[in-house]
Amino acid sequence: NLSDRLEKSFKLLKGQGKITEINVAETLKDIRRALLDADVNFKIAKKFTDDVKVKALGQDVLSAVKPGQMMVKIVKDELAELMGGTFADIKLENKPAVILMSGLQGSGKTTFSGKLANMLKSKKGRHPLLVACDVYRPAAIDQLKVLGEQIKVPVYTEEGNLDPVKIAKAAIQHAKANGNDVVIVDTAGRLAVDEQMMNEISAVKKAINPDEILFVVDSMTGQDAVNTAKEFNDRLDFDGVVLTKLDGDTRGGAALSIRAVVEKPIKFVGTGEKVDALDVFHPDRMADRILGMGDIVSLVEKAQEQFDEEEAKRLQKKLQKNTFDFNDFLKQISQIKKMGNLKDVMGMIPGMGKALKGMDIDDDAFKHIEAIIYSMTPAERENPSLINGGRRKRIANGSGTDIQEVNRLLKQFSETRKMMRMVSQGKNVQRMMSGMQ
Ligand code: GDP
Ligand code: MG
Repeated sequence: NLSDRLEKSFKLLKGQGKITEINVAETLKDIRRALLDADVNFKIAKKFTDDVKVKALGQDVLSAVKPGQMMVKIVKDELAELMGGTFADIKLENKPAVILMSGLQGSGKTTFSGKLANMLKSKKGRHPLLVACDVYRPAAIDQLKVLGEQIKVPVYTEEGNLDPVKIAKAAIQHAKANGNDVVIVDTAGRLAVDEQMMNEISAVKKAINPDEILFVVDSMTGQDAVNTAKEFNDRLDFDGVVLTKLDGDTRGGAALSIRAVVEKPIKFVGTGEKVDALDVFHPDRMADRILGMGDIVSLVEKAQEQFDEEEAKRLQKKLQKNTFDFNDFLKQISQIKKMGNLKDVMGMIPGMGKALKGMDIDDDAFKHIEAIIYSMTPAERENPSLINGGRRKRIANGSGTDIQEVNRLLKQFSETRKMMRMVSQGKNVQRMMSGMQ
């Protein structure tokens, strides 16, 4: 799912100290693919990743201690933004407040009407009236009646009347006369968008001037949901979207796209067939859920914890100028030691895992090396070429090692320096390695 995919793309940032043009590009490619797979419209996915990129690269990446975490936050904020930014409530000030349902047949209008009536009644102390304007199918009227009985909310019907405009107007009068402060008008849908349906619901809208027109859409219909939303919005200029069937094996991407295409907030989500399976839609919470925030943040934090990127940048420069010295070497050792068990750390280097098997490596592995470097004068550390035979003997004595060990370290250092310079200059590492054997 989308959440897993995003998590995987953030893993790419693991171990990389900074957000660069390159690792952002990689991550964004993955995010975009994940969004497309989740049914997000292509243009939206592209715009989304473009926006994230601008934000990520616009940051002062060098001072960002935790670039991966920063990426998570940027993506999360963008996702929430794409889904509407903040929670959008429905307008219920008028007495009665009139709510008109729209949407295709089977999208869940009738079910949602019942759920909303139930929510307003039990949580807001309102006195809703449900109105059956799906006049073509007697079964539809019965469905609403059954729901009404279940939640103890009155249902207004006019058996035999085939004019939804007249029924809706009469229902509002009925509500006023009976103290119902919310009128929820359930309408007929078709299996696909057609003129007759659009004309009919437009006429109802014109006649009752609803406070809130909600467009109900089945989130399992993927990209079709986006097209349907657009057609309904063009005709009705609705106020909000209800996403149903988010409980199933639904790819949530349509939700993201709908919001971006019609520029209307998602207000509710249906999460089941039961009458209480209704959630108010919170974009930030949805984004949290999509990202599985907790996990990613801790993962990224862990990866970034020990990494001092300012230091890395400085080293990179020194390597390029060939001024990498024993002070840097010491710092590197302390960085590596901070990362924990040396064997584990070395095991992360590709190909090293096998070589380390059976070897006895502990954190004291650097003890001699450190001792030798500490026995050098500052000038020697900065300029190792100063270290002649006499100096080597002094250093060996001072560090409690012997001259062979000092020689080995000096040789190792000069090779490391050579290798690092080549790597930093982008030379072919493979060739270089085989040349060294
Ligand atoms: P309408 O034609 O738009 O009025 O759609 P209905 O309200 O009759 O719903 C069509 C089908 O979808 C029914 O079987 C409902 O039980 C089911 N349904 C509606 N909302 C949800 C939901 O959020 N989750 C699930 N799983 N099923 C839903
Ligand atoms: Mg219905």
